[in-house]
Amino acid sequence: MPDLSLLVLIVVAIVIGYLLGLYSKRRAHSVEVASFNKDYFVGLNYLLNEQPEEAIDTFINALDVNSDTVDIYLALGTLFCKRGEVERSIRIHQDLLARPSLTTSQSIKVQLDLAKDYMYAGLLDRAEAILVDIIQHNHEHKGEALQQLLKIYEQEREWLKAIDIAEKLRRSSSESTYYKRLAFYYCELADHHLNENDRIMARRCLRNAMGRDRDCVRASLLLGKMDYQEGRYRDAIKSLERISRQNNAYIPLGLPLLEKCYDHLSGKGGYGGYLARCLNEKRGSTVIVAMTRLLLKEKGVQHAIDFLITQLYKHPTLKGLNMLVELEYARGGEQSSPLFLEVTKNMLALKPVYACSACGFSGKEMHWQCPGCKKWGVTMPIQGIEGE
Ligand SMILES: [Zn+2]
Repeated sequence: MPDLSLLVLIVVAIVIGYLLGLYSKRRAHSVEVASFNKDYFVGLNYLLNEQPEEAIDTFINALDVNSDTVDIYLALGTLFCKRGEVERSIRIHQDLLARPSLTTSQSIKVQLDLAKDYMYAGLLDRAEAILVDIIQHNHEHKGEALQQLLKIYEQEREWLKAIDIAEKLRRSSSESTYYKRLAFYYCELADHHLNENDRIMARRCLRNAMGRDRDCVRASLLLGKMDYQEGRYRDAIKSLERISRQNNAYIPLGLPLLEKCYDHLSGKGGYGGYLARCLNEKRGSTVIVAMTRLLLKEKGVQHAIDFLITQLYKHPTLKGLNMLVELEYARGGEQSSPLFLEVTKNMLALKPVYACSACGFSGKEMHWQCPGCKKWGVTMPIQGIEGE
């Protein structure tokens, strides 16, 4: 048994001993008190002999489950669950539920904790059944039960059910976060319909996403992708350029597709104009590199290098430096050493591109829901000299 669990049990044993002391004072000379005291010492004995299962059983039997003691057992269950000893936590909660002396509120709290045990153990169906039952009635734990249910539906990627629960939470909460969360769920659903090639449903979901959060960057990206696939390049450009107004930190996400859209249209002036506007509002390495590539195509290598050097003085980044080395190498031909380019490319390859602003999880892939802390819309392109 891990040391902390043993420590927890010892603390519980002390608390139970203390409560027994109080109880003995209130009910002196009672036969029951003598029995409780006996149970307490039996439990302590099990603990000292490192038999924690038997100790838990005995301590649970040692006290009546009532308003004074139920919180101790709930705390013990939570600690075991957090320690990953979920079987013990489940046993404690199931034993508590078997007690007829629990009040309705206590019983619901125990059921909620048991559902969390099942979630931790990966028994999502059992957890869902308990939580669905809990949310049927109005009580103080309903909000928490809805939030736990939402976690299950996210994990199972049951987006319609997640939308239903998030709508209930949105209506009962003053927080605006559920609007953003709902927009992400609709985007997930749109993605699913796109994979099934149901484009009508996908568009309907994206309209709903925008209805919940008009600054939903992900919906703009998906709409841009759909319009591009259908050859509606001007519509795609409209969606993708909207990102700079929704949240300019996400501009880099739309640029590759935007460039392709402009490639299909005769005049490319629009793309340069958009990049120039972005540079005016928020200078970032991806936009600088995109503008440099455009200048390289349209005006040649020297013009591109001049532009890039000017930008690098104002906004030095590893990505920009790598581009400069690449251009210098291209201009120098075989006489130029590939060593610098090799170094900057390798440095870039090692760096993460996106990071979660809540927990710091980082990587090369963009996650709308952070794989670390499970929050939505908190992963952003990394800023600073090694990022944007
Ligand atoms: Zn995170």
